[in-house]
Amino acid sequence: MERSSDEQLAEKLAAVSENYKFIEEKICEAALRSGRTREDITFLAATKTVEPQVINHAISLGLRYIGENRVQELLSKYESYDLERADLQFIGHLQSNKVRQIIDKVSLIQSVDSVKLANEVARQAKLHSKTMDILVEVNIGREENKSGVMPEQLDELLGEIGTIDGIFVKGLMAIPPICEKKSEICGYFENMHKLFIDISGKKSDNVSMEILSMGMSDDYREAILCGANMVRVGSSLFGKRNYT
Ligand SMILES: *Cc1c(COP(=O)(O)O)cnc(C)c1O
Repeated sequence: MERSSDEQLAEKLAAVSENYKFIEEKICEAALRSGRTREDITFLAATKTVEPQVINHAISLGLRYIGENRVQELLSKYESYDLERADLQFIGHLQSNKVRQIIDKVSLIQSVDSVKLANEVARQAKLHSKTMDILVEVNIGREENKSGVMPEQLDELLGEIGTIDGIFVKGLMAIPPICEKKSEICGYFENMHKLFIDISGKKSDNVSMEILSMGMSDDYREAILCGANMVRVGSSLFGKRNYT
């Protein structure tokens, strides 16, 4: 017999509750194993394709950070998120001409990878009399056709955008290549952590290395063990994405 949509929703929410508890435990374990505590790690849920009702259920469980990666989708869901209790961030590839649409809606843009984009974020932020917190996305696997600044160009980019009024660089973000082996992905995470530490040692007005955002459903534990203090988890929390 077909299940009613009410039954399906109830089932889905129950699964999210289970998953949330599981991920919380794993984050806590990894934090302790890496010499830190649960409070040192930010658990951000990647909410693409997820209905606001389901997102808000996760928020009711204690989730405090959500991230969208498409401007259009963020705008269409914006009025429905429970933003009294959660913080909305932008984690996807961002075109300069769309910055205007999200500048007053998000607390952090994780995916800045060019001077041009940084300038536009700063310009829009100033129009709203605010300073926008950003992360610089690094293409740590040096993959063609992938967003992010190449690791060897990171210093130069930070030098340029570190002087722009209207933005503040809070850290780094990366999406490493898909790897067969955990040891391989850990190499990328370790390289990111090295960059993060190196930059932390340099003084700069608008740059402060506070957030290292890396690790997704398949590898958030490894990322934390390698020094991540923010993980972005989607499908492990909400189930497989349905893009239709
Ligand atoms: C979708 C997405 C994630 C989460 O991916 P999962 O593998 O489903 O956990 C993390 N970061 C970004 C930028 C994403 O777009």
